[in-house]
Amino acid sequence: MPCPETIFRQTQITSDFSHFLRLAKEPKRMLNDLFETAWKQRELTPEQHAPAFLLAWTVLAATAEITTGEVNPESWSPAICVDADWAARFNNVMDNPKSLMRMYVKRFAASWPIFTVADLKRVDAVLPETLTREAVITAYRSNLSIHSQPDCWLRHLDEGANIVPDWQHTLSAWVAVRRNLFVDSGWYNTENTARIVANAFLSLIYFLKESKLYFENPSLKPDIFDRTQVLTSL
Ligand SMILES: [Zn+2]
Repeated sequence: MPCPETIFRQTQITSDFSHFLRLAKEPKRMLNDLFETAWKQRELTPEQHAPAFLLAWTVLAATAEITTGEVNPESWSPAICVDADWAARFNNVMDNPKSLMRMYVKRFAASWPIFTVADLKRVDAVLPETLTREAVITAYRSNLSIHSQPDCWLRHLDEGANIVPDWQHTLSAWVAVRRNLFVDSGWYNTENTARIVANAFLSLIYFLKESKLYFENPSLKPDIFDRTQVLTSL
């Protein structure tokens, strides 16, 4: 079922996908090269996926900058969140049961909500990453000054609602992971574990690929890795 809440603030900024579709050849190639660099990193171990996520984020941010004209994520993220073209690109892939993006988005969503590490540091509440997800949620949500994204997700968990992770929820979780990246330099806390960051990276990089925003270099060999992943996920 769709989320009954509007989870993003209103914005005056609009997104126009035609700007991206009409992008000149050179900048398009530059972005596709950047995408390919990030794409190859999905075969690294989850512990190495933080810089990979940062690269994939850079591609997302540049694409959003092109469709909205805004450089600051505070400006472009609400705009692409409510944009029908961005949402359709994501949600159409989610409709495909064989999609790897869908698999990684579901794994990523198993770690939602993403708590704001800056809040955790402020109240000195960072927990060791060995705790279960349930214990983490119980501890962090007890302090009302600790925020999380998607901000409706705790209520969904309480209600036992089976909310399919859609564009709006997933984008807000990617934004939350990006904001956490440099707050805790040790990657030791429960909101920066390899599992969360790796699934954020893999869901994002497969979104960029499977939504056909960017393309793998056709000269690359057939991708055995992908097919193996599909088989093991069934
Ligand atoms: Zn929701």
